[in-house]
Amino acid sequence: MARKLAAGNWKMNGTGDSLMELEALATGDLPQGVEVLICPPAPLISRAAEIAGGIRIGGQDCHAEASGAHTGDTSAMMLKDAGASYVILGHSERRSDHGESDEVVRAKTEAAYAADLIAVVCVGETLEDREAGSTLQVVCMQLAGSLPDSVTADNTVVAYEPVWAIGTGKVPTLEQIAEVHAALRDALTQRYGDAGDNIPLLYGGSVKPGNAADIFATANVDGALVGGASLKSADFGPIIAAL
Ligand code: 13P
Repeated sequence: MARKLAAGNWKMNGTGDSLMELEALATGDLPQGVEVLICPPAPLISRAAEIAGGIRIGGQDCHAEASGAHTGDTSAMMLKDAGASYVILGHSERRSDHGESDEVVRAKTEAAYAADLIAVVCVGETLEDREAGSTLQVVCMQLAGSLPDSVTADNTVVAYEPVWAIGTGKVPTLEQIAEVHAALRDALTQRYGDAGDNIPLLYGGSVKPGNAADIFATANVDGALVGGASLKSADFGPIIAAL
């Protein structure tokens, strides 16, 4: 059984004042047996880590190299040094805004491991892919290309985020989520053996307090990667509790 993880991706939202929301979660009641992760924008990571208590802090991206002439980029080691223990990699917004290929995501994932960060590797189909009937093929290809051979159940989390469900209020049916998660689980166990059974599989895309419990009750769903509803503790708290 994979461990349970409720992850919040603040994306490019939040300033110092927003850390109040993290503080509210950190000082509130967190359920046993569930790991909680918040990934704030990079400038907030070290301040977030100071007040996070039992909540883990993560980055939203890292460079594939450890250091060097890459203006504006942040290395995995820098995230670790700032207090992060996770990093989101290959989010669809990185893939589309910055043209990140599976190869780039795989190199970043290896950089995360080298810095002792847990990688949350994202895959997901576009609406066009889904309408063409190629969802499973697309997500399994992304998975195969984005993950290195050195994946373990301790260093990697996989997030399924249909691009058309992100920030839209549209959510796949529970059957559609179950179908994709089963295919991802199969692909992981085929490639990594027993470790593949224990890699947490998160669903992401318009997760809200009102739909979280049903999504978490779906087979092979070990948690969520939450965008908009992770920004306020009043929304993220009930999502964590539902897990
Ligand atoms: P929303 O929860 O805002 O749809 O975002 C999902 C997401 O992209 C998390 O990484």
